[in-house]
Amino acid sequence: MSAPSSPPSDPPSDNDSDSPESRPMLSAFDGIASPPPSRAAFLSSLPALGDIVSSCCLSNSCACPRVGSSRVCNLALYRSHNFCITGPHFPATVFITLFIGGATWFFGFAAIDAKDQLSQATGGGVNKPLHRSICVLFFFLTNALLYMTACADPGIVTGPKELPPEAAEDPSERSKWRFCEKCQIYQGPSVAHCNDCKVCIEELDHHCPWMSKCVGKGNMLWFKLFNLSWIVYFVYVLMRLFS
Ligand SMILES: [Zn+2]
Ligand SMILES: [Zn+2]
Repeated sequence: MSAPSSPPSDPPSDNDSDSPESRPMLSAFDGIASPPPSRAAFLSSLPALGDIVSSCCLSNSCACPRVGSSRVCNLALYRSHNFCITGPHFPATVFITLFIGGATWFFGFAAIDAKDQLSQATGGGVNKPLHRSICVLFFFLTNALLYMTACADPGIVTGPKELPPEAAEDPSERSKWRFCEKCQIYQGPSVAHCNDCKVCIEELDHHCPWMSKCVGKGNMLWFKLFNLSWIVYFVYVLMRLFS
């Protein structure tokens, strides 16, 4: 005789707001960031650098509080410039640096040597120092824009926790607001939740693993400049090598 079977438990869902995992954004700042409705209030409520000591990927004595699945690497910089917060896929960003470095070595050094030899055979020549200088310049420029995108706050929103009075009173305004059960906040019309970053983002465009995090209002400009930089770099080396 078989034992009575209990009904299978439901798998954890995205809407499970009771799970601590579903609300990690608030865990580091619970009780500190509960009332503030704005980013400025949230940032001003953060403890002084060194007051928060959490487990860090590098050292247990390093103060790297979590915001969702991102880490604030420097509270002072984060508070003053919304900078120095790395996303959950930061190794992918480091891979992009290695890729750009490899491309710079190939196009700036190896390929230009081959073109120079071919050009000399036909009586021509290549200005290798100038070409290499431009490639190295693009390498640093593209990487600088990459890390500005990857380390800037994408637009993390931590409030409001109460529906604004104007939205509560006006049904047409109320329809523009949604409640995020994971962050336990009300999302305005331009706010959406990211399941990878585990936070709500203002003007969320998409989650980009190569940038390690979301691309939103806070880092969209850097993201566009990064793309412009590598495209110009790529077009330049193609024109230089195949012209
Ligand atoms: Zn959310
Ligand atoms: Zn994200």
